[in-house]
Amino acid sequence: MQDQQQEQEKQQEQEKQQQEKQEETKQQEEPKVRKGRKGRNPESKKGEKKTDVEVKKWKGIAVWQYDGDDICGICRNQLMELCIECQANPNPTTNQECTVAWGICGHAFHFHCISRFLKTRTICPLCTRDWEYQKVGY
Ligand SMILES: [Zn+2]
Ligand SMILES: [Zn+2]
Ligand SMILES: [Zn+2]
Repeated sequence: MQDQQQEQEKQQEQEKQQQEKQEETKQQEEPKVRKGRKGRNPESKKGEKKTDVEVKKWKGIAVWQYDGDDICGICRNQLMELCIECQANPNPTTNQECTVAWGICGHAFHFHCISRFLKTRTICPLCTRDWEYQKVGY
């Protein structure tokens, strides 16, 4: 009985070896398949172009979010919230004027912060271009 078991084990080992050989041949075949895929360049190029467009769209959204959700470059408070001075001195009248001002360069600050800064220099504090109001308010 023991001999039979040993023979069975030998057969199983041989089968395993054969399977391993088959797997090896499969792995050798794979590079050929990849070469074939590389041959289909037009399809892969189309896929790359699609991803490029998606990245551009994502960048556009990011820039748009930058204008809405960013912090003031002068007082570092959120642009959607009050400037640091209005936060420190709550006053219904001046707080109503505490809005966002955009320059022609595309940078945005609290109206209070940029108007205070423009008393010294009429440039954008972030990019130093000549400051001109593009838009005041949300
Ligand atoms: Zn500010
Ligand atoms: Zn303010
Ligand atoms: Zn600027």
